[in-house]
Amino acid sequence: MSNATSRRRFLKTSTLLGAGGIASAAALNVTSPYMLPEKSQFQENHSFWSADLPSANAPVQCDLEVDVAIIGGGLTGLSSAVYVRKNSTGTSVALLEAARCGNGASGRNGAMLLTLTEDRYMQSSLDPGLDKRIYDLTADNIRRLQGFSAEYGVDPEIDQDGALQVCNTAEQATEARRYCEQARASGLPVEFWDREKTAQAIGTRFYAGAYFDPHSGQVHPGKLVRLFKSAARAEGAQIFDQSPVVHIQEGPQVILTLASGNTVKCKVLILATNAYSSKLGYLRRAASPIFDYVAMTAPLPEALRAQIGWTRRLPFNDCRTEVFYLGLTRDNRVHIGGGPVDYVFNNGLSEPASAPRRFAALRAELSRIYPALANEPFEVTWSGLVDMSLDQRPAVGRMGKHENILYAIGFSGHGVNLTSVFGRILADLVVQKDASWEWLPYLNRLPAYTPNEPFRWAGIQLALGFYRWQDSK
Ligand SMILES: Cc1cc2nc3c(=O)[nH]c(=O)nc-3n(C[C@H](O)[C@H](O)[C@H](O)COP(=O)(O)OP(=O)(O)OC[C@H]3O[C@@H](n4cnc5c(N)ncnc54)[C@H](O)[C@@H]3O)c2cc1C
Repeated sequence: MSNATSRRRFLKTSTLLGAGGIASAAALNVTSPYMLPEKSQFQENHSFWSADLPSANAPVQCDLEVDVAIIGGGLTGLSSAVYVRKNSTGTSVALLEAARCGNGASGRNGAMLLTLTEDRYMQSSLDPGLDKRIYDLTADNIRRLQGFSAEYGVDPEIDQDGALQVCNTAEQATEARRYCEQARASGLPVEFWDREKTAQAIGTRFYAGAYFDPHSGQVHPGKLVRLFKSAARAEGAQIFDQSPVVHIQEGPQVILTLASGNTVKCKVLILATNAYSSKLGYLRRAASPIFDYVAMTAPLPEALRAQIGWTRRLPFNDCRTEVFYLGLTRDNRVHIGGGPVDYVFNNGLSEPASAPRRFAALRAELSRIYPALANEPFEVTWSGLVDMSLDQRPAVGRMGKHENILYAIGFSGHGVNLTSVFGRILADLVVQKDASWEWLPYLNRLPAYTPNEPFRWAGIQLALGFYRWQDSK
């Protein structure tokens, strides 16, 4: 056989093998959700904030028929219930929560009340005018939350005194300075702080500088859920805890089946199920449930707080890809969250065995930032699920053949404030007022496509490995 013939045969075989490999991978990607059914689970919220969550309402005990049903009693679901009723008191609303309101990320987070969105926070997009508009929308929402607090008589301990994004390296500080100049030129009131000014505010010279956003802040997450649940009830929404939905039947009228066997019929369904959404067969491609960890000390004695010098109660997060974030409660507890995160195969919802190592990493980081806290034990530790989208961009819109299923997903660890902006949008979509939100690039889209197993697991492990290598430099 000539060399030319054998080369041709080799090329043909490789092409066939390559095409076969791609076709098998594509087939596996399409069929794996059917071959690997996902397991639903709602682990109890043991966070510090959970002590202040509202008590659970009774579950659904009979069949119901309403105008709007909402699945999920986190901030997205509760705020959309409030706004649907505010838009029209004639619209009947039933909210169905599997465990109790605030059992998910809304009652377990790092308490940072941030402007903007994950993909825009402290970074410019190609459209500075749009960045400014989204900044104003989200900064204004924090003021709205304060208005809600006065209106419904629940104090969620909002401090809108600013938040910092601190820079781990000199290069990041240079980048932060550049960003702040650009952002200020577009009208965003962010400031660059050098090492000294940052140290004066948070007591540590660990960071090379920081971005300061004066309109961000912090909140007590348990009390924020309490505020929205009180508001939703005051506005006339029916709220049912301990009512997991197990099946959605689409149609001009959507029929939900609960674990109890009861059904809820509705004209419009709002899916506010965040990282749990794929368990109902929806939004699997849009986001992956990622375990994130938080730990908190007991209240620091005044002398110790003075020693660490965190004089301004500003929450802060660093610039790593696997970001660490810290806050100081009104009773002087320090909490630290983030660092290495985990993904459990097949969108798993059961806390992974690596959790103790993750809390140890939080311990080590806290001791590095504040050596005086090295011997201060954590009083409580917990984990929560982030709905991480591939492009870190949130999404809100309609889906389903009858376009009567509304969703909000992909907050990517940046949802404490944004969820109630999206709750307002969802309520406007119920009454077809889409036009007022068409300027928002997150409307009627889905985040970038995340493949199914086993590619999802492999891809996330690769990405996490890369982030850890990058963050360690
Ligand atoms: C550890 C951690 C730290 C974070 N820190 C911050 C931060 O500092 N700042 C920030 O901006 N964001 C932060 N986030 C993100 C923020 O908390 C979330 O984006 C936000 O709370 C999402 O709210 P949600 O209502 O969409 O989802 P969730 O609060 O998760 O609510 C979804 C609800 O749906 C219910 N549910 C799901 N499936 C069903 C079903 N089949 N039937 C009935 N009910 C169902 C669940 O039980 C759950 O209560 C953090 C998240 C985590 C996990």
